[in-house]
Amino acid sequence: MRDDLPNPLRRLTVVSSEETPIPVALRPRRARAIRQSRRDRINGGEGERSELFELPCRRQAQPFPIDFGRIAGVNCQSRDTSGFRAINARQKIRPPREEHMLGRALGGIAAIAMSSWFSVAQAQDIKLYAFSSGALTIGKGILQNLAPVEPPIQIPVGFFVIKHPKGNVLFDTGNNDRIITDPSYWGASFNALKPVNTPDVAIDTQLGKIGLKPDDIKYVVVSHLHLDHGGNVGKFPNSTIVVQKDEIQNAFWPKAGTGGPYMIDDFLPLRAANKDYPNAVKMLQLEGDLDLFGDGTLMVKRWVAHTPGSQMMTVRLKNTGLIILTGDNVYFRENVEKNLPPNIVLAYNPSGILTAYEWIRHLMATEKADFFTAHDPDAFKALKKAPEFYD
Ligand SMILES: [Zn+2]
Repeated sequence: MRDDLPNPLRRLTVVSSEETPIPVALRPRRARAIRQSRRDRINGGEGERSELFELPCRRQAQPFPIDFGRIAGVNCQSRDTSGFRAINARQKIRPPREEHMLGRALGGIAAIAMSSWFSVAQAQDIKLYAFSSGALTIGKGILQNLAPVEPPIQIPVGFFVIKHPKGNVLFDTGNNDRIITDPSYWGASFNALKPVNTPDVAIDTQLGKIGLKPDDIKYVVVSHLHLDHGGNVGKFPNSTIVVQKDEIQNAFWPKAGTGGPYMIDDFLPLRAANKDYPNAVKMLQLEGDLDLFGDGTLMVKRWVAHTPGSQMMTVRLKNTGLIILTGDNVYFRENVEKNLPPNIVLAYNPSGILTAYEWIRHLMATEKADFFTAHDPDAFKALKKAPEFYD
């Protein structure tokens, strides 16, 4: 979207970038009060955004969520396809001097903004559940650079549910249930990946462990649309799908060399083929980040790395703390801990993967955050599985 065109929707979804800086003379106590009142104002505005089918927001810069503390809904930042030189309009706002100095000490304004964001997030009565959609067999070296390809290892296919007071959220949807009864659905991929396709991995059966049916899911957030993450995305006709616009475009018409892991029949139900309207189901096609419920507890984070429209999500829990759901931007814990890159064949933007690792380590160091991946055999084994939960 061109940002020079008037757009009433933008005004509904984005806090003005022209916010007046706090006068230096007012600091520090008065400045704190002003900032708090701004946060309160920002945190109040969940209403209009949730029913939009498409968020008129510009591409969000990487690598750090610079503006989380100031934005209720979508993080709109200046378009810059490099993703690294993007200049956020709000960076021009000079913070009070003491913050400025602290920012330098912490390594820059990104650190300030993240602290601000996390301090306003209100942990509520939220539960996070981990589920299994079976497993795949694959050479580790296909996922992690320089790891052995033989013998193949079995990796889990995980997905997650968050019960939030404002609605249930599904993060990823696992393998399409069709492979349980029709192994030909994946074609050659089925033989290569040898998926576990016992009836108990069906998504309805898994959700039933915590008493949910597909219609009980308010938002389906997909990290990306590969066959083991977006497999069942078409089984939630009454939910709102949350996906990056770049991802759904790439799924339907992939960039060269990226098409293999997409199964078009997985997400064709979203398109309502042969109908006279483009979307069969409600969908948020993001071009940036989204504070899903407007309270900072569930933050969808655009992070172009594994695929052209990958996204991660942070979940702020009262007792467990901050959990990052990584999708395939991280395969194994050791990738983050030892800074091991993935195999280049499954990294659309390798530098995006490395900045994702860096961001996760930063949150671990400053917020005692932890991260859950979908495919790490040991880490997934150690996770509590539904109906057990993290809160
Ligand atoms: Zn993937």
